[in-house]
Amino acid sequence: MFKQARLKLTVWYLFIIMLISIFFSVLVYRSISLELERGYHRAAIEERAGELNINLPRQLPFKFENIDPRLQNLAIRQLLIEDLQAAKKRVKNNLFLLNGVILAISTAAGYILAGKTLEPIRHTLIKQKRFIADASHELRTPITALKTSLEVNLRDRNLTAKTKNILQSNLDDVNGLERLTNNLLKLSHSPKQKLYFKKIKTDEFVRRALKKIKPQAEKKKIKLVNQTKNTAGTMVQGNPEALTELVTILLDNAVKYTPEGGRIALTTKVNKKNLILTIADNGIGIDKKDLPYIFDRFYRADTSRSKVKVSGFGLGLSVAKKIVVQHKASISVKSKINKGATFIIKLPA
Ligand code: ADP
Repeated sequence: MFKQARLKLTVWYLFIIMLISIFFSVLVYRSISLELERGYHRAAIEERAGELNINLPRQLPFKFENIDPRLQNLAIRQLLIEDLQAAKKRVKNNLFLLNGVILAISTAAGYILAGKTLEPIRHTLIKQKRFIADASHELRTPITALKTSLEVNLRDRNLTAKTKNILQSNLDDVNGLERLTNNLLKLSHSPKQKLYFKKIKTDEFVRRALKKIKPQAEKKKIKLVNQTKNTAGTMVQGNPEALTELVTILLDNAVKYTPEGGRIALTTKVNKKNLILTIADNGIGIDKKDLPYIFDRFYRADTSRSKVKVSGFGLGLSVAKKIVVQHKASISVKSKINKGATFIIKLPA
């Protein structure tokens, strides 16, 4: 990200410097040409005037045609014009060379300067990421302890229905917090951080994700249609845990944003050495105005119009996007409000 920003800033510096340099070069060229023309013009006429004993005015008319006709027949005129052209060419070449040197120097200087300008921002971001990583890490231990004690308490047979409900709702909140800290931790790692990659069968990570999501889907009576058998043996290069998580995030969202009794279809096909994985639901869909932002951190579309109320922090798709980038894959989405959403992942197969 910083390399890109640095290069962009360098290009902007260069653009401004070269614009100024070219503007002044054109001005210099024009004024030098004018002076040269005047000088050569006067030299030629003075020579001829001397031969004819004519007194010249201090200021000469610029065009040959406007001066005394006796002076116009100059044998040396052609010679002088050729000489003048050569002088102009020399000026032009020197100015080109000068601009080339300015370009080379300002590229190097601009790149160094851009780096220095961005350095404090880079440091702040690194510190911010470290803080988020440390805070999330510290939060994980008490959250796990809380979760365990809630789960143990929920197993108590003497609990009244009311207490059980309260404890269950607490456990749901703690699970949500756990997801949040895990996602924050994942997002705080650099996207360049190397994941362990190996060749895996599509079926492996697809099945694992489906297994994770099945209980939630069953709870909402949502039909999970698995249409991936045709590519079950297709191999992809990737990190098995990350790919499982990618599919899980998309399936989890599909379940969350699809009303009871809905349908989710997971389809795969191989196209031009890419594995195309599609997750389509017939849920509440995403508004056109929200589509460009749903992969941004903490962005949540307004779902108040629909009956589906979902808690979340708007981090799932950011994590999905990060996994996609780490796998040099791509993700896109098609959706219409109330017509469901379709997420398409293109993975190098
Ligand atoms: P979260 O689900 O926790 O809000 P995400 O980053 O996973 O965060 O998703 C961002 C937003 O994208 C969601 O708030 C939701 O509005 C929208 N969204 C994602 N997936 C779907 C889907 N399958 N159907 C409808 N809306 C979706």
